[in-house]
Amino acid sequence: MHITMIGGGYVGLVSGACLAAFGANVTIIERDTQRLDCLQAGQVPLYEPGLEALITQQQQAGRLTFTQDLAPPLRDSQAVFIAVGTPTRRGSGHADLSYVYAAARMIAAHAPDNLLVVTKSTVPVGTGRQVAHILRTTRPDLTFHIASNPEFLREGHAINDFMQPDRVIIGLEDEAQTASHARTLLEALYAPLHTPQNRLIFMGIESAELTKYAANAFLAMKVTFANEMADLCEATGGHIADVTRGMGLDPRIGPAFLTPGPGYGGSCFPKDTQALATSARQAGTPTQLIETTIAANEARKRRLAERIIALAGHNITHYTIAVLGLSFKAHTDDIRQAPALTILPLLHEAGATLRVYDPQAMNAARPLLPHDISYARNALHAAEGADMLLILTEWPEFAALSPADIAPTMKGRLIVDYRQIWQQNDWQKVGFNYHGLGYKIAE
Ligand code: NAD
Repeated sequence: MHITMIGGGYVGLVSGACLAAFGANVTIIERDTQRLDCLQAGQVPLYEPGLEALITQQQQAGRLTFTQDLAPPLRDSQAVFIAVGTPTRRGSGHADLSYVYAAARMIAAHAPDNLLVVTKSTVPVGTGRQVAHILRTTRPDLTFHIASNPEFLREGHAINDFMQPDRVIIGLEDEAQTASHARTLLEALYAPLHTPQNRLIFMGIESAELTKYAANAFLAMKVTFANEMADLCEATGGHIADVTRGMGLDPRIGPAFLTPGPGYGGSCFPKDTQALATSARQAGTPTQLIETTIAANEARKRRLAERIIALAGHNITHYTIAVLGLSFKAHTDDIRQAPALTILPLLHEAGATLRVYDPQAMNAARPLLPHDISYARNALHAAEGADMLLILTEWPEFAALSPADIAPTMKGRLIVDYRQIWQQNDWQKVGFNYHGLGYKIAE
């Protein structure tokens, strides 16, 4: 099967490489020349464990190619996937669909008859029908099919998530039609996943579009709930780890996404919650839970910055904070909407000297952070001479550090761990003042 994938970002690259590994012939279209040059030279312009090896393997097998020119590969394709970005539109909560619609117009210009057009990008309900409308009005003569196939991969685990998904959601124009062209083609494409655990779930296009937003918004809400329970534990003497363990063992709740932290970030939760709330408002059915989740998450990042300033004694000029972690979570260099991007500028504005380290995200973060922040060679270098050590990302290499590594060169004795990577006792017994989240700090 010949597949064209429009967009060589996280989703396009991972999906394209994995579909090639399943045996399809995949061409990825990337319009950014720098990114394309990099891909054609066998390099991957983002950090995702295992991706570079998989891409190289599939390129060498002749099943994966990269180009800017859509027309030739599309002519031979049975399906085209739209995997371009859908960021928040500037000044509103709407998803910016200009890249999706531009891709639809490009497809319309070159589509062969009987092409299946699959929207993989996360898009508001109604977008798939709009893509069909663009195709229909641009090429009234064309026979085509549409489907929605939102992607659920997590950065840092993307290949495994794609290859062994909990579910593959497929929205069809006519879900009742069990032998439609779209369904048969997608079943064949995903055939290597067919085990009881790797289920293909067919539904209508609108339901598929909504499922993706509903899942992300629910997870964002779960994280925010855990953060609020952590605050309540701090105020009343409970311990969040005990509370969430007790909650999470209930199979109706489940343990995932109940760890408190500095607020959710990344390229999906913030924009998808905004887009869902906006769609719901437009539809006349506002989602109060999601609106509140968005506001609570924003407020949390600011409140934690204020808390850090208070812990440092309020006047933090001449105060050095070593910051470990910039990316929104471990195993990715993605800095989009990371809590560090809100917290660090506030600490900087308050006068703190910041020395930061992240194993992957420093290049991406540099243009987005105040220019006089210094970047360390490694975690120990960041901690040298610092008054406070602040953990913002749960990288395993930070978790592997112990007081014996840090204590000899750090000046102060204050650890602020917003990712629960260490045991409080290990640090307290050697004289550190240790602040985590979700429990009362002993005076
Ligand atoms: P991204 O911004 O990393 O990548 C998009 C790529 O598409 C960019 O490289 C851009 O240059 C390219 N592009 C845009 N228009 C193009 C065009 N007309 N022709 C060719 N290339 C074009 O985005 P992403 O993180 O891969 O996300 C893509 C979509 O998938 C979004 O809707 C996102 O919400 C969704 N999604 C992302 C994730 C994730 O973890 N990143 C997970 C699930 C779903």
